[in-house]
Amino acid sequence: MKRLSTFLIILFFGLQSFSQEYNPVVSNVINSVDLDSLTMWLRNISGEDPVIINGVEETIDHRVDSWGNDLAMEYIADVLESYGLEPTIDNYNANGKNVYATQLGTTYPDQYYMICAHYDAVDYYCADDNGSGTAAVFEAVRILTQMSFEYSIIYALWDQEEIGLVGSGNYAQNASNMGMDILGVINMDMIAYDSDNDMVAEIHRNSASNTVELSNYLVAIDEIYEIPVVPEVQYPGATASDHSRFWNFGYAAVLMIEEYFGGNFNPYYHTENDRIDICNLDYFHGMSQLAIGTLSSLASPVSFGTGVNEQFAGSPLILGNYPNPFSGQTTVTYELTNSSDLNLQLVNSQGSTVQTLVNGLQNAGKHHYEINVNELPKGIYFLVGTTQRGSQTHKLVVQ
Ligand SMILES: [Zn+2]
Repeated sequence: MKRLSTFLIILFFGLQSFSQEYNPVVSNVINSVDLDSLTMWLRNISGEDPVIINGVEETIDHRVDSWGNDLAMEYIADVLESYGLEPTIDNYNANGKNVYATQLGTTYPDQYYMICAHYDAVDYYCADDNGSGTAAVFEAVRILTQMSFEYSIIYALWDQEEIGLVGSGNYAQNASNMGMDILGVINMDMIAYDSDNDMVAEIHRNSASNTVELSNYLVAIDEIYEIPVVPEVQYPGATASDHSRFWNFGYAAVLMIEEYFGGNFNPYYHTENDRIDICNLDYFHGMSQLAIGTLSSLASPVSFGTGVNEQFAGSPLILGNYPNPFSGQTTVTYELTNSSDLNLQLVNSQGSTVQTLVNGLQNAGKHHYEINVNELPKGIYFLVGTTQRGSQTHKLVVQ
């Protein structure tokens, strides 16, 4: 009852401009935010593991502007492209390069919701600041590009935040000059440090445009979908990250950050000791769920990928894989809310079964299944999972 009444109060007093109710598709999105996948993105962008960039194995040792962070920029562009987006590399000054891409909305293509983070850094690794926000944008790309939305979504990674919010400032100024109708901006900067395990998610706002409603919306999403982070709205919010450049031009924007005002801030901030091993991965997972779930709800999902039964969205079977796109090997994940018979097949783009992965009774919970596709031609494949409740489809890209 408490949950419901809190929600109703928020609904009546906070959400005049953004209405919402429980949506099983949004719930499915939140459940699809995968910690293994997030961990992979974070390790890749913060130089713990090598990545393939333009067919060559490279390690992104650092993302420091004055040393040149082109490797990170190229990797970001590759990731966006591999999910079917057309990234813009915006070389707005001699050293600065923003990378962003738009997923067009089906009903309101000229109205935008944005998820963003800065990717530049001040030292080696810098996992929390801000590999974490960058990784969460990648996870949003991985999940949301499989879906369609009424509103357009902009995925943006800013450069030169650390030397004065330069990349985002340039973008916001241009957007304002062009009269772009950006309805809300979710900026993530340092979303993976929580040493006291209180799971506090600070949401920084001011009162530009509908920022109050946007911040209330995040709080309501957290409640409705029972996301395991605890939002604390900070007003007046910090201006020391990219969202404040959007405030400057009258756009609704919020900052999601660990306890910056609350006193549990990353002590390894801006040093080479800011690595994944000092991060709280469950907290990082919850922060990412809140950001991506909120974005998906705001952008109004119209379907969940190809060939998915609408009534099936939101529960009994969740399919995924990581990495994706991939070559050689990938790990398929499937999660069942109840123990049930499952038939899981890998199907090519002509609809022919390439391999039957699972056929039989499976326990409830999350399962992992390694597949090797060395003999398969490059291209698009689907995982098709069928239970007595219906079928669920997930797209894989072999590259
Ligand atoms: Zn930062």
